[in-house]
Amino acid sequence: VTDYRLPTNVKPVHYKITLNPLIEDLDPRTFTGEVQIRVKIIEETDSITLHYNDLSINTISVNRINTETDIAVYHEYDNITHFCTIRINKVENEDVEETFKTNEEYIITINYLGYHRVDMYGFYRSSYKDENGDTVWLATTQFEPGNARRAFPCFDEPAFKATFEISILRKRNLQAISNMPRKNDGNQLYDNFETTRVMPTYLIAFIVSDFVALENDTENFKVWARKGAIEQAQYSFEIGPSLLHAIEEFLLDFKYPMPKMDEVAVPDFSAGAMENWGLTTYRERIILYDKDHATAGTKQQIATVVAHEFAHQWFGDLVSPEWWNYLWLNEGFATYFESFATDMVERDWRLREQFVVRDLQSALAADALSTSHPITQFVDSPNSIRSIFDTISYEKAGSVIRMMEHFLTTEVFKEGLKRYLQIRQYSNANEEHLYDAMNEKFLSTKPELYEDVAKIMHTWTRQPGYPVLTITSEEENQLTITQKRFLLTPTSTAEEDDSLWTIPLTYAVQDSNFDDTSTKQWMRGSSLKISRPTEENRWFIFNPQQTENALSRITNSIADMHSHNHYPTRSKIISLNYHGKCYNKRTHKYDGHHSLYYSRCHYPRWSSEADYIPWYSALNAFSFLNLRLTGTDIYPLFQEYLWKLIQNLYEGLAFEESDADSHVTQLHRSLIIQWACNLEHEHCIETAKQKFSTVSNGNTIPANLQSVTYCTALRHGGEEDWDLLWNKYVDSNYATEQSLILGALGCTTNQTLINRYLMMSITNNENIRRQDSASVFSAVYSNPEGFQLAFNFLQNNYDEIANS
Ligand SMILES: [Zn+2]
Repeated sequence: VTDYRLPTNVKPVHYKITLNPLIEDLDPRTFTGEVQIRVKIIEETDSITLHYNDLSINTISVNRINTETDIAVYHEYDNITHFCTIRINKVENEDVEETFKTNEEYIITINYLGYHRVDMYGFYRSSYKDENGDTVWLATTQFEPGNARRAFPCFDEPAFKATFEISILRKRNLQAISNMPRKNDGNQLYDNFETTRVMPTYLIAFIVSDFVALENDTENFKVWARKGAIEQAQYSFEIGPSLLHAIEEFLLDFKYPMPKMDEVAVPDFSAGAMENWGLTTYRERIILYDKDHATAGTKQQIATVVAHEFAHQWFGDLVSPEWWNYLWLNEGFATYFESFATDMVERDWRLREQFVVRDLQSALAADALSTSHPITQFVDSPNSIRSIFDTISYEKAGSVIRMMEHFLTTEVFKEGLKRYLQIRQYSNANEEHLYDAMNEKFLSTKPELYEDVAKIMHTWTRQPGYPVLTITSEEENQLTITQKRFLLTPTSTAEEDDSLWTIPLTYAVQDSNFDDTSTKQWMRGSSLKISRPTEENRWFIFNPQQTENALSRITNSIADMHSHNHYPTRSKIISLNYHGKCYNKRTHKYDGHHSLYYSRCHYPRWSSEADYIPWYSALNAFSFLNLRLTGTDIYPLFQEYLWKLIQNLYEGLAFEESDADSHVTQLHRSLIIQWACNLEHEHCIETAKQKFSTVSNGNTIPANLQSVTYCTALRHGGEEDWDLLWNKYVDSNYATEQSLILGALGCTTNQTLINRYLMMSITNNENIRRQDSASVFSAVYSNPEGFQLAFNFLQNNYDEIANS
């Protein structure tokens, strides 16, 4: 078994890094670097182990600070673990130094050569075309989780926090930016940065480019982009400071810990965005916004991703995970704040409700698989670390954090968070640190519901899955509640799964306050009897607002629920019905997805449901069915059925924008029109074709209607339509528009075009960036006519794709 963890007998204290990037030179593009690491010996040793990867080491020297002695060393390298083990050369150091001494400090100096790859990891290169069509190069970084070691030798684990002093040589026409403000005036050849706070390697960042910035009066908030796109940075520039303040306010005035914040739009970027401390980086389409070239959904994504990266400045950057097992302490909170911080700024977007249908319900879907994993997950190798950047660490952790807020109450939750940050700042944390901080207030304010936070939370973080509660009332005035792990595809081993959760039971009764989500009772065992919360003739519902990370089956009639003015609760009922948990009155069984169409168990009053939140949830479930029924002989029935459900909505929202539309109406219209055209509704198709015909004359379609218009036109159009859109893609200066067109280009039913398009995504096509290849593939894959071609393509070109 390979041990991927560094020994803990040596601790880095301070790094001095000097880099000389040569991005504009001929291949191979390289950089030279020198790193001086001051380390402290915790326990006497004859070797020091640290990381590097994809670097050519020239020299390594070690000096004992106290005695100013140079120590002769040699090193060994392991290319699986990336361990560089520096050992004392005992022959040359005869009688002088045989070991590195406890409590002594040493300086390790390493000179090396590195490579500006194009794979978007480490210190990589990116490029864009300027207004003359010339390629302009830049060099930028992406280190999480383990790629700082490709830029400089280091102790590349989150618990090895240190301070960093960075200097970067650059040409006069460029500038470097990094986590900290620049010390010099920018006229010199080197950009020298102030020493950082104590921080982990994976959050270091530096960028050398000719970018320009929008900056505020005090110059502590900037948004950077290539010159030709800088005016698209206005929205991020405006909303950024408000989001930072919203998080500070939520954390009871716990201030943003860095002296400045830069946001950078990077043309080539592997993830969506990255939370480097004081220097957040983004794909262009996730930070640059222009009303005519980006949808309401994209605008929302920009704001929520910025909130996500900003939340990390506290959760991850100030308090870092002890090890990647606790990745969720970063991503769960960042996901939580995406909605709950942005909601404090964009107040009419209904993000608290959107959280339920976007994050919580997608977590429940992912976590319903028998292959799911616990939130706190043991990982060691780089591959296993990468594999947990998933729905469980993000959306499920975010949902469980929301559940914690509700059982603790918001007030106790906020105080606990502040306390957690104060105790663990500039250090590392595991989940116990979080629970301890929460317990302080919780146990003193809620004696009647005494339950240790850790004991509750472990049942949610240390085992996979979640419970489904079945509530029956066989005896008068009494309910029996049982819990069982919910699995989408029950197997024989699933039947034996006796996982139990500690559940904060909540319920609301008819005509009561649905905003009250306080815990009515704790459930620990497999079954519990409680008295019926209200009289026999009045209904009640468990888990209103879906604050528990659980599902509940209800054997009562829910017919009256639709009229209750509470959207997340309504959407929960729909999700419940359409997510394979529907109770069929005729068979007395819970039907799975496949039998759904035939079962009569649907939401009772579809025709009167007009709200976006429940519909988002419903159509999510319908897309699951749509995918499976496409091409079968019952598909026309399905089309007809679904069209009847959405017909009123389609006619009400219409295929036109209005200035009076709210943000949510714009989202809703895009969703419904997309479905109407997908269901081949004639009016929808004709409208889209008619709108598209005006595009060739230079007409612009409102951004929110572009995607459906382009996609539908291509499905029903020819090669010249495809080419028209392709040229529009190539000429566009807007990453958001380009991304939208890339999706639409996959909609064609012409097999030759589909194959050509797939091939373009992996060949050295300068028009499709490597970061976007996967979008091309998924655009084709989600097209019923492209599905099989995409699959064949993957098989035939597997090696090429895997190696790229
Ligand atoms: Zn994140």
